[in-house]
Amino acid sequence: MTETTPPDHCPTTLQQDVDLGGLNTLAIPARARYLARVTCVDELQALLQWRRQYECEQQRELPLLILGGGSNLVLSSDFPGLVISMGILGREVLGEDESSVLLRAGGGENWHQWVQYCVESGYFGLENLGLIPGTVGAAPIQNIGAYGVELESCFESLTAVEVSSGRVVTFDGSACRFGYRDSVFKQELRDQFIITSVTLRLHRNPDVRADYPALQQYLSELGAGQPSPQQLFEAVCAIRSSKLPDPAQVPNAGSFFKNPLVSSEQFEQLREEYTDIVGYPQSGGQVKLAAGWLIDRAGWKGHSEDGVGVHDKQALVLVNPGHASGSRLLQLAQRIRDDIRQRFGVELEIEPRVYAY
Ligand code: FAD
Ligand code: NAP
Repeated sequence: MTETTPPDHCPTTLQQDVDLGGLNTLAIPARARYLARVTCVDELQALLQWRRQYECEQQRELPLLILGGGSNLVLSSDFPGLVISMGILGREVLGEDESSVLLRAGGGENWHQWVQYCVESGYFGLENLGLIPGTVGAAPIQNIGAYGVELESCFESLTAVEVSSGRVVTFDGSACRFGYRDSVFKQELRDQFIITSVTLRLHRNPDVRADYPALQQYLSELGAGQPSPQQLFEAVCAIRSSKLPDPAQVPNAGSFFKNPLVSSEQFEQLREEYTDIVGYPQSGGQVKLAAGWLIDRAGWKGHSEDGVGVHDKQALVLVNPGHASGSRLLQLAQRIRDDIRQRFGVELEIEPRVYAY
């Protein structure tokens, strides 16, 4: 990694030809043309202004990648543009009443540490979302969810800087158009806004949501009839640690595929052939299939080839122990998708954002 004189008066320290291998949890060894870390909104706005000027002078686009913890992206090649590493920190209590508290966190705050801080401070609602890697600013991008809770349930608003103009915009929950592992920032507004802070409304009284089967089972084995938020948080962390590979040991990006939605008719047809198929009825009549079950049933669990593979405890997680290239990993993903389509007639969609140039 080299630091050079910033081209054309870049307002912040710009690194050139940077190895991103340590900055993405799949440990994909891709390089970025430029990388800059921003720690406040002014710095971010000035950097975006510099990029616009650069594009104007050079008469070509300088692609942009906003990087949080790098835990939900796949770099399928080197990145020929500017990576902005989100380093805006800060935690603030904006207001409190008898039942709730309004809190704001900077986009660069570590998500898990933020959850831990909230639980320890007696601000409840995020316990089920403990131990999710990454940053606060990335959490709304796919409306992170786990153990029956999604970010949406306590989301109040976010502030973001518009890439094209540098203006600061506030989004409330409806403007974010949250869905299952989805938001407007993965759809129409993809790459158009950089999230600089997130505001949440949390409960001051325990609001324990422990009905997710794996949680229920764990807590009943512990003998915790009425778990406290702290116990719930610890249970979530313990279950995750026992089942999911730690990216620091085995590079991965969590679930590689979304759980697919099928019609109830298709689900019944599948169940005639596969009596133990796992599906969860959704509002609107569709059924959410457990993609991990499909991949496991197709025989991929524990599979490994050329440094990439499928985790042996959770088939939904692709792993990259050999620090192979993103394109190598995507080849494996494509073979799994083709196989699942052929066997079950079900289309799997990749969950992390794939960057291809
Ligand atoms: P990155 O990977 O850095 O970025 C992801 C995408 O968001 C990129 O397109 C990036 O450009 C964009 N982005 C990031 N920050 C910003 C910003 N401030 N403004 C605008 N765009 C931005 N996800 C879940 O939902 N539930 C889980 O339970 C879960 N478990 C996981 C477990 C493991 C072991 C791993 C490795 C991943 C897991 N994930 C889970 C996926 C991932 O951790 C989350 O999606 C997380 O929110 C990504 O945060 P990040 O900062 O690493 O984002
Ligand atoms: P699990 O408990 O083995 O369950 C497998 C799948 O079945 C999950 O994907 C889950 O869907 C679904 N499911 C289970 N019980 C359900 C219920 N009562 N109602 C609706 N759907 C149900 O899952 P796991 O792999 O150990 O993960 C536990 C939680 O952490 C899940 O919520 C999962 O999404 C989350 N997680 C997410 C990632 C990621 O990268 N996105 C990575 C690891 C874990 P949902 O996924 O919709 O909950």
